[in-house]
Amino acid sequence: EYLRQKEAELRERMTHMTRVSTMGEMASSIAHEVNQPLTAIATYAQACGRLIDQGMLESSEAREVLGKIGQEAIRAGDIIRRLRNLVHRRPPELMQCDLVQLLEEVAPLAMVDARLNDVELTIRAPGSVPPILADGIQVQQVLLNLIRNGIDAMAKTPPGERLLEVKIATSGGGRVVVSVTDRGAGVPDVGEEELFAPFFTTKPSGLGLGLSISRSIITAHGGTLSFGRNADRGTTFFFTLPEAAAAEPCEGDKETNE
Ligand code: ADP
Repeated sequence: EYLRQKEAELRERMTHMTRVSTMGEMASSIAHEVNQPLTAIATYAQACGRLIDQGMLESSEAREVLGKIGQEAIRAGDIIRRLRNLVHRRPPELMQCDLVQLLEEVAPLAMVDARLNDVELTIRAPGSVPPILADGIQVQQVLLNLIRNGIDAMAKTPPGERLLEVKIATSGGGRVVVSVTDRGAGVPDVGEEELFAPFFTTKPSGLGLGLSISRSIITAHGGTLSFGRNADRGTTFFFTLPEAAAAEPCEGDKETNE
């Protein structure tokens, strides 16, 4: 019993550390990223002011510049909003969860997304999967991120061949593995570190936060998130999560606050 409590404490502390260091790394790239739209807004506003002073501002021009300012503000807001999801996220509430059920809960959403993009989504799970110790909502966020990315990757795949498979399996070593396999264009030819770095994106309106946030969530759960290039076509992203020890009480973490 004592050991189990120590283990829970240690796990909580590790989770906290991982979160803090990832955020520290992210802070500088975020500052840089938000700074760009803000600089653009300031520049547009100054230019407008100067034109007004010179009595040279046509209202059609003013409207155009205001439109640009609005767009940049939305972009900055978008970055902040996604970030707030990350920063204000409560510490993961680790509970025994059923991964299949978590997946089933997000499936309808994923199905809609898939159908809108002519993607056939299949879900494979064994009849029984051991419970995992996880924050269900965060894990669902990761699932949706990976599914979304898989769908995006198949934009140029002929419609009949757009298959996305989400699979749950047990690995034997006390871990459950989830894989998301697409038949898309394949990941860009950059190193793994760059691919997972905050703000790396190849999409015109992408933010490049999905993979880095997903990896930080999975790492904080004591799992790993990685990918492989499929032999024929596309990519498989997969993550592992530790199985909850069979004897772990459901309402475990309640009294182990710092
Ligand atoms: P975003 O989706 O906003 O670009 P992500 O961090 O989720 O941000 O992804 C970063 C980049 O990784 C994507 O822009 C894309 O180039 C690449 N990527 C992610 N998932 C896939 C995938 N399944 N197939 C091909 N490329 C991918």
